[in-house]
Parts: sequence; C-alpha cells; structure tokens
Amino acid sequence: MTESKMIDPSVKWLAKSWLGETYVYLDRQSLLSQTKQRISDYICQELQRQQWNGPPFQPENLFKCRRILEKSEKALPSSHLGILIPVRGGFLMKIRAEVPKLRKRFTIAHEVGHTFFYDIDQEIPTRKFVRSRYWVEEDFANFVAGAILLPEASLREVIQERRLDPSLEALARLSKVYMASADVICHRLVRELRLWDCLIFKSVIESDGSIKTNGSFIFKGASFRGWIVPKLVAEHASFPSLKSPHESLRRGGHLQSSLVSAIKNTISYLRTGVNMHIREFDHRGQKFSLQAKINPKSSPSSCTFLVRKATV
Ligand SMILES: [Zn+2]
Repeated sequence: MTESKMIDPSVKWLAKSWLGETYVYLDRQSLLSQTKQRISDYICQELQRQQWNGPPFQPENLFKCRRILEKSEKALPSSHLGILIPVRGGFLMKIRAEVPKLRKRFTIAHEVGHTFFYDIDQEIPTRKFVRSRYWVEEDFANFVAGAILLPEASLREVIQERRLDPSLEALARLSKVYMASADVICHRLVRELRLWDCLIFKSVIESDGSIKTNGSFIFKGASFRGWIVPKLVAEHASFPSLKSPHESLRRGGHLQSSLVSAIKNTISYLRTGVNMHIREFDHRGQKFSLQAKINPKSSPSSCTFLVRKATV
C-alpha cells in the first residue's frame, strides 16, 4: 500500500483545500503538520484582524468566518457535549448547557474545528469525502480547539515576554490567562509547539499511599521522550510494579528509578500537610528538578508533577 493510500480521506481533502495540489508530493507526516500549520496561521490571522481580543480568546470570534449562524445551549444526550448542524447559509451549534466553564469553551472551539471538514462555500455546508475514520476528525477538531484557545503567536509572545519557563506556577498562570484547562495547555505547549521541554504528569494518591498515574495525562518534552512514568508507585515497595509492559519500555525506554525515589520522597513530604514541594534529583549525571502540587479540590487527592532540567 502506498503512503498516500493510508492517509484518511478527510485529511486528504483538508490538505488539498489548504495546501493545493502539491499535497500529493508530501508524506503523511508532512502533509498533516503542514495542513495544521496552515490552519493555525489562518486562525491567528483571523484573531489578529479582530485586534487580538485576548487572551483569553473567545471561540465565538471565529463564528463569522466559519459561517456559524447561531449557538444555543441545550440539555443534550450524555454522549454529546456539542453538535454542529449544517443548514442553509451555514451551521447551527448546540452546546450542552450544564458543563463547567473551561470545558464549555473547549467544546465550542472543538465544534468550530469540525467546520473545517466542510466545504463552507456551498449554500449548505457539504462534506466532499467519504469513509473517513471518526477519531481522525475528532483529533483534528481538538487540534483546532487548542489553536483557537491558545493561538501560537500569542502563546510564543506571552512565554517569551513574561519569561515563563516550565513550572507548575506558570502552568496555573497560563490556565487563568487563557481560560483553558491544564491538559489543553500541556498538550499545546509541550507536545504540539514544543515551547516547554519538560515532563508533566498527573497522579492519584490512594489512601494506602500508593500513587497511580493516569496514562492520558503524561506530556513529554524533547529531552524526556525515553522516560517512563510508572503507572503505579507503591509506598513500601523498593521498585514500582508495572501492571503491563509499557510501550516505550519495549522500545528501549528506561525506567527512571531516580524519578521513582523522588516521587516517593515528595509524596511522603506532601502527606505531612503541605500543598507544594520542589526537590532536586540526579539522573545519569544530570540534575533535575521535580515540582509537585496537590490539587486541593480533587477527591481522592490528585497531584500534578513537573520534571525539568535543574537550572545551574
Ligand atoms: Zn467532535
């Protein structure tokens, strides 16, 4: 099977619309990254045309150019946070009413993301491709949501001007300024734009003192690709038990026993009642700093960790 045949029809259509016919010369990776870059630039330009009314940026600012006629808040079925309905002249957007504020902002921006899969120059927006995979479009709509709430140009400027190096404090500040949740910010900052070179993960502290890490909340910057965040760190075991062989372990990743000890020491310190702790640890001759912060509103208590190279 050739490379182009493996590309999802929806992505192929998007690439053709945004990159022109030259898209056929690109491999899957470049096609996806160049299409994303083009759409991210388009979003920045649209927001700039409106005098950068942010941060925080309102997804509603994209409604006109994406032909969204009306947004209404409804009691939607539990499977849906938002729905986009093509009608004569554009789209109607329905958003589930009873959703926390930040989640709602992300959902509105995500639904704007779905408009990119339609030819919006038709009287009724139309899809021009068939047999696309559901998750491809969902992933892309999530990317667009991040690009709207955290536009690349704004984020680069804010990080540079305010000298926001990776830290949990900076993450909390960015969340407040951009009105976006920590996972959306980490995804954009660490994975997509690679503006922060650090490792961020969130764990739950069980009543027996063991620490379980949620696999969907692990973000690894360039220097941390080979690092493994253990799924379970038991308080009294000398080594963490790995429930299932981790993907990156099979690929030659290294279990960071130094990280495990740092996590254990940090947690026993935090269990004395403090909310936040920073400690340094050595790994392969290099110094790293581990920051940990208990999330006071969560139950059972959860803790966010950030690892970065220690500043000399
Ligand atoms: Zn969706």
